[in-house]
Amino acid sequence: MQNKENWSTWLEIDLGAIEKNVRFLHQYTGVEIMAIVKANGYGHGAVPTAQAAIRGGATWFGVARIEEALELRTAHITQPVLVFGYTPPGKFRLAIENDISLTIWNQEQLKLASVAALQLKRKANIHLKVDTGMSRLGVQVEDGLKLAQQIVKTPAIEFEGIFTHFARADESDPTPTDIQEASFGDLIKKVRDCGITPKVIHAANSAASLTRPETYYDLVRSGILIYGLDPSDECPAPQSFRPALSWKSVISHIKTLPAGRGVGYGHEYITSRMERIGTVPVGYADGYRRIAKNFILVAGERVPVVGRICMDQMMIQLDKINAAHVSDEVTLLGSQGSERISAEELGSRWHTNNYEVVCGIGPRVPRIYV
Ligand SMILES: *Cc1c(COP(=O)(O)O)cnc(C)c1O
Repeated sequence: MQNKENWSTWLEIDLGAIEKNVRFLHQYTGVEIMAIVKANGYGHGAVPTAQAAIRGGATWFGVARIEEALELRTAHITQPVLVFGYTPPGKFRLAIENDISLTIWNQEQLKLASVAALQLKRKANIHLKVDTGMSRLGVQVEDGLKLAQQIVKTPAIEFEGIFTHFARADESDPTPTDIQEASFGDLIKKVRDCGITPKVIHAANSAASLTRPETYYDLVRSGILIYGLDPSDECPAPQSFRPALSWKSVISHIKTLPAGRGVGYGHEYITSRMERIGTVPVGYADGYRRIAKNFILVAGERVPVVGRICMDQMMIQLDKINAAHVSDEVTLLGSQGSERISAEELGSRWHTNNYEVVCGIGPRVPRIYV
């Protein structure tokens, strides 16, 4: 049965593309790949993405929240999983019990991890986060050595990693990242000079894994690239990366309206002649933005969305598309015929980036794996 017979709207996710993207990045960098599957795998589905990434050679996973790490463990994914965001104190035990690696950046968290690990008679795997200029999480770089020394002295702690995160690696100006890189490099040297050897050192996100081999250390943390999307306009994905996600729907209704008819809430669009107007069952509750000047693909051509986007539906102008019929498949993101609407295009139309476009596709849109 075809998808259009079964769903109002759906995502088609090409897991083969994710697998190939990971394999390509692994060959390109020559280091281990930590596949970033936070936010439901950037909207692609965390578990299927993780399984495809494993087939492509990923050996680590990164997520933002402990709940996301537990979802991977529940799906029997046994690779190391790092939570690189904040973990609430009450969840440290759960992390350690499930062999989930935690990020810490202060003494209180170190103490919590140690106490929980001792109670469980296990070791807590921790990564020390260093703030070299992102100013989000992390010990300030000048206090990093002291905290590293405390980590090695703390019972029941496995010093598994030390890392930092770049704020501007996707921009063409290298200077801000040069500064972060140098400051992290200095700290790593001091840590090593003290004989401290965490298992892995990491810094690069997708953008840096394309452009900064000197930041690879033991692994690169890649999100956007494994989904085949550009880190930014200034830092596009090389040709070998292929987008994995398409967003599709169907035409649910078509009518011909006389001149002067209002379309949708607020009648923001008024027909100026006899017009053929179609309806598509996708709305802002699915993550399609309620802003003007949208287009979708019908019969391989771009057609304008008219009137306001509703919660669950939108209207389209079909005058130029004689071939359009009720129950035809339409594409909101992805290719149809020789036309393509990319996540990057939607991002720029919606005044945001491709990351927010794919993460924002709502949970009620089924993910179909091909
Ligand atoms: C989200 C995130 C990444 C991945 O970023 P991409 O630009 O998608 O590669 C890497 N590291 C950390 C700490 C992150 O939060």
